[in-house]
Amino acid sequence: MGQTKRLCRVGGALSIAIAFATSTAQAAFNLTLNFTGGLSPTQQTVFGDAATFWEGQITGYQPGILLGGITLDASGTAIDGVGGVLGQAGPTATTHQAGYWLSTTGVMEFDTADLANLEGNGSLYDVVLHEMAHVMGFGTLWTDNHVYTNTTGRYTGANGLATYQAEFSQPLATFVPVELGGGAGTADGHWDEVSGGGGLTGITDGLGHDMRDELMTGWLNSNIFVSQTTLASFTDIGFIAVPEPTGALLLLMGVAGIGMRRLRQGSRAA
Ligand SMILES: [Zn+2]
Repeated sequence: MGQTKRLCRVGGALSIAIAFATSTAQAAFNLTLNFTGGLSPTQQTVFGDAATFWEGQITGYQPGILLGGITLDASGTAIDGVGGVLGQAGPTATTHQAGYWLSTTGVMEFDTADLANLEGNGSLYDVVLHEMAHVMGFGTLWTDNHVYTNTTGRYTGANGLATYQAEFSQPLATFVPVELGGGAGTADGHWDEVSGGGGLTGITDGLGHDMRDELMTGWLNSNIFVSQTTLASFTDIGFIAVPEPTGALLLLMGVAGIGMRRLRQGSRAA
């Protein structure tokens, strides 16, 4: 089994959009995809499926936030052939509402050679899900939302932490461990696992899933699952997430034979 290092873009060229609205109705959450070239119809379908997944988990925003979702430009472009740089993903604009920093637009750009490979081996859906989460703020808007301080390795958002304590039988935990290895783009933006993704963490949920295999760790492994902790963490950064019934963790498609690929690191501007 190989591991894909996802060196994800953390942050982006953040420009601030101020939205004025008078309605106080709770907003729904929609991921609007703009396909700006280079994605095949089947690949576009995968992006659409991933957006549908997050729209099903994230039902809206915290009270006082007047957003309808995030508009995302998705494209494929020839970069450097199979392997090497996979692409880049992250927020491209944010807004500050009700005390939260929230992504309003984002980008996901993949190397077309890697897209074909990821699609062929069945891991494209997992990778797109992972990158969309970064666009939504996972790991990219943590410091702005005061749930994480860089280089500490300690996520302290209240909802994510409480869920982690229960889900992974860590009742005394005072933080959710965050990855410090892997260099810029991996460190400080993912849940912790053994650096390189090769070993079990020993931190398991009630169904025996090891944190190594969680969607939002820094390396892609087989038997990916999305933890309740990940879902709850979105509540800490402005969203409303619907918890899954106990035992109903989403098991995503397994991955086999993935080589090392990375997402290009982008500079963090805020
Ligand atoms: Zn990532």
